[in-house]
Amino acid sequence: MAGSTLIEGGYVVTMDPAGTELPRGWVAVRGGRIVSVGEGSAPSDVRDAFPDRIDATGALVTPGLINTHHHLYQWLTRGWAQDSILFDWLVALYPTWSRIDEGTAGAAGAGAMAVLARSGCTTVGDHHYIFPRGSGDIVGAIAHESRALGLRLHATRGSMDLGESQGGLPPDFAVETTDDALAASAEAVTRHHDGSFDSMVRVAIAPCSPFSVTSDLLRESATLARDLHVRLHTHGAETVEEEAFCRERFGMSPTDYLESLGWLGPDVWMAHCVHLSDEDAARFGATGTGVAHCPSSNARLAAGIAPVRALLDAGAPVGLGVDGAASNEHGRLGSEIRQAALLARLRDGAGAMPVRDALRMATTGGARVLGREREIGSLEAGKLADIVLWELGEVEHAGIADPVAALGLGSLPRVRRMLVQGEDVVVDGHLVRADERQIAGRVVEAAARLRG
Ligand SMILES: [Zn+2]
Repeated sequence: MAGSTLIEGGYVVTMDPAGTELPRGWVAVRGGRIVSVGEGSAPSDVRDAFPDRIDATGALVTPGLINTHHHLYQWLTRGWAQDSILFDWLVALYPTWSRIDEGTAGAAGAGAMAVLARSGCTTVGDHHYIFPRGSGDIVGAIAHESRALGLRLHATRGSMDLGESQGGLPPDFAVETTDDALAASAEAVTRHHDGSFDSMVRVAIAPCSPFSVTSDLLRESATLARDLHVRLHTHGAETVEEEAFCRERFGMSPTDYLESLGWLGPDVWMAHCVHLSDEDAARFGATGTGVAHCPSSNARLAAGIAPVRALLDAGAPVGLGVDGAASNEHGRLGSEIRQAALLARLRDGAGAMPVRDALRMATTGGARVLGREREIGSLEAGKLADIVLWELGEVEHAGIADPVAALGLGSLPRVRRMLVQGEDVVVDGHLVRADERQIAGRVVEAAARLRG
């Protein structure tokens, strides 16, 4: 059981519904949860009850960041197909990815999650959808690595069953049968999903995309997830090529197509959603369908700029995601706050994305997207103690007018300290439960093995 800790002296951004900020605030933590939050010096009864102190002087204190979309395995294929659009990039990478197994997926996950943690991410959403025959327990391997680092994981059991010979994009050797995918999805949930309040591992069901999955698998995955009381995730409306694919094959836009298969609703989140009409955005808001906004990946693949302002104004849950590192070699979630602020302004004007709105997407927005808004995403009494202290005393940020602008517009501050469930995960910018050099060595070896 985690101990009692008082974090004091920092600029605390609670991300509570009122947007409360405490220029010299304190946060009291016990048993992995936030007990109380206040301004100024903590009262003497609090100081007596929380003898362990973390000095946050000169730091910005925020909720832990929540990543809503990733493909951790892609950590092994960074730097490939550097100038391609999505479909060409996928075709270039599918053959290598289809050699993934639980060993290489674990090494990739360790590398990708180490970088996420060092950029302030406490909850990792992963979308894994390639399961070659005989590849072992890939979801289990990723969960093993998240536990070792001390991070909260929202894994998925994804799938593809629409190979090239049936008009899909992936090669036939990279896809499963519909029945195998459904059976393995149910098994992954049974084996690894924990629905408790302080769960460290949850599992969602996540067929990959309209151009790599049959209508049957999409429809039946939705039914299965609802039977098992877990969430649903996929890619949607990422590129103009996907839009053309859906119109030609189904006579509908991607959003209409997914809706026709039961895929709009408060238990669904979709990655990207770049090519939405105003009416689509309103439907996301009305149905509570979540969006994982991945601004760097969308720029890397020249997919476009998602209408995030319209989605937020419609009331849709919107979180941030780094996406797989093969389309975002940066891999740092903290940096996506700045990227989201900048791209929204390029699309919709200077007032389209204040830094506090971008930070809200990375925290409470992500919690809503993952169905964890009661547990994580803000610094409020009763929530889990997932907390980041960002160092603002170094030359990059010292003297800046607004500590939140340091995080949302400046270079990404070093993580002075990061707690998950009240326990240290990062101290002075480095992992405390794992050896970063050893992880780097595993990544080098696994990347070479994957290349064959
Ligand atoms: Zn993706």
